[in-house]
Formats: sequence, structure tokens, C-alpha cells
Amino acid sequence: MTKKLTSDEYSKIISKLRDVQDFPKDGIVFKDITPLLGSHEELNILMSHLVNRYSSYNLDFIAGIDARGFIFGSILADRLGIGFVPIRKKGKLPYESISAKYELEYGFDEVEVHTDAFIGRKDARVLIIDDLIATGGTAKAACELVEKSGATCVECCFIIELEFLNGREKLDKYNIYSVMKF
Ligand code: AMP
Repeated sequence: MTKKLTSDEYSKIISKLRDVQDFPKDGIVFKDITPLLGSHEELNILMSHLVNRYSSYNLDFIAGIDARGFIFGSILADRLGIGFVPIRKKGKLPYESISAKYELEYGFDEVEVHTDAFIGRKDARVLIIDDLIATGGTAKAACELVEKSGATCVECCFIIELEFLNGREKLDKYNIYSVMKF
């Protein structure tokens, strides 16, 4: 059973998030996680909580979404003693890749993963992680990539969930865990 964060621990982590108004464009409140990354005590509380949750999940890989998912994902993978797989924005991966499209406010974007990323484990059990879920489009495309690769997306984990954007609805096929909801 996952040990819940105490209210003191939760307050400590949340105190290290910073709202930046109108970034990257007018009307957006950007949840800046860099103060959390710079504070070892609070980052350690968060990562220990995730290690506690996921140590019983029998995971084979953590797949982190470009770019802040790489940070939390790499720490978690290392602490769990498993491999890390980057899910990158289009055109960044050097080797043969597969891609999945998702809709943005205006137009589309794509994420990619190497074709051999989950090879070596049959039916690999994968946790997808990102810093934040907003509309859920990016995470849904990431889930599709994991499944196209023949692996299983066991859960999607987010440090922050913007509940008012209903991203969960797009991911209704999947288990979702978010540490902090706004
Ligand atoms: P979405 O596909 O709409 O769920 O957007 C999620 C992705 O966009 C994540 O990789 C986030 O890092 C980033 N993102 C979206 N909205 C915000 C926000 N308000 N603050 C920080 N990052 C955001």
C-alpha cells in the first residue's frame, strides 16, 4: 500500500512550485517546477513518495515525457533500479523511431520513441511520467507509443494535475496518479 504524503510533506512540496503568469503566452499560468528541483529536501520527499508507491508495481521501465518528465523519470528509474526511456518531441531521437500525433490548440504535434526502446523484456511493464497533465493530449500520445511498441502502460504519473482541463477523460483507458491537483 502506498504511504500517503502527510499534510506537512504535501505543503512542503507545494511551497516549491511557482506560478508564472502569462508564460509562454498570455492567459497561461505556467507551473514552474524549477524551485522544487533546486530544493533537495522537498524533491527527496516527492521522490521517496513515488518510490514507495511504485516499488510494488513490478515495473520494467520508466518512460519520461520530453522534457521535464525526463528529470523525475530518471531519478525514479534509478531509485527503482530499472531502465529509463525518453519519449521525445518529433525529430530529436537519433535512431529508428515510431511516432504518435496529438492535437494542440492550433495544429498538431508529435512524440516519438525508439523502436527498440522496450526490447529485451517481453510484455514490458511501463510507467509513463511527466511533470504535469493539462489537456492530456501529450500523455495520450505517449501511451499509444508504449502500446504500439508492444509494451503495457501500467500507469501514468504526474506531479501536477490541472483538473479543470479534464485531461483524465482522454486517458480513461489508463490508470492515472497525480501527486498534486489544482
Ligand atoms: P497537455 O498535453 O495539454 O496535457 O500538456 C502537457 C504538457 O505541456 C506537459 O509536458 C507539461 O509540461 C506542459 N504544460 C502544459 N500546461 C502547462 C502549465 N500550465 N504549466 C507547466 N507546464 C505545462
